[in-house]
Amino acid sequence: MHVDGACLCGAVSYEAVIDPDRVAICRCADCQVNSGAAFGLVASITDGQFQLLSGVLKEYQKTAASGRARQLSFCPECGTRIHARTRQDPSAFFGLRVGTIRLRAELRPNKQVWCSSALPWIADLDEIPSHQTQDT
Ligand SMILES: [Zn+2]
Ligand SMILES: [Zn+2]
Repeated sequence: MHVDGACLCGAVSYEAVIDPDRVAICRCADCQVNSGAAFGLVASITDGQFQLLSGVLKEYQKTAASGRARQLSFCPECGTRIHARTRQDPSAFFGLRVGTIRLRAELRPNKQVWCSSALPWIADLDEIPSHQTQDT
């Protein structure tokens, strides 16, 4: 599936090919900190098919639980996470951050990983009072 997207400030834009059947919620602690949210949401990029259309990416290298170096890419202007990959191993998971994809509403997650570190309230979202826009 061809997709396109951009960061929050618009400096970084891209197109990519992803597998819509491989969209995962990642509840690992690193995704919580790096996203500032309860979980990461990633789609698997097919055969490294990611192309930057504008802007540049800044990379931060972390050591994954596997011991391998994972490179987390983001917009240096606004900090939006764009993708994560293992450069040394092209066959390793190359994940595109779903929130940046223009048609993200069409991509329903079909797997949850690192549930061992999930925030304890995450299964109870329906019980939290909801508002159509910001509550004032
Ligand atoms: Zn940006
Ligand atoms: Zn994660």
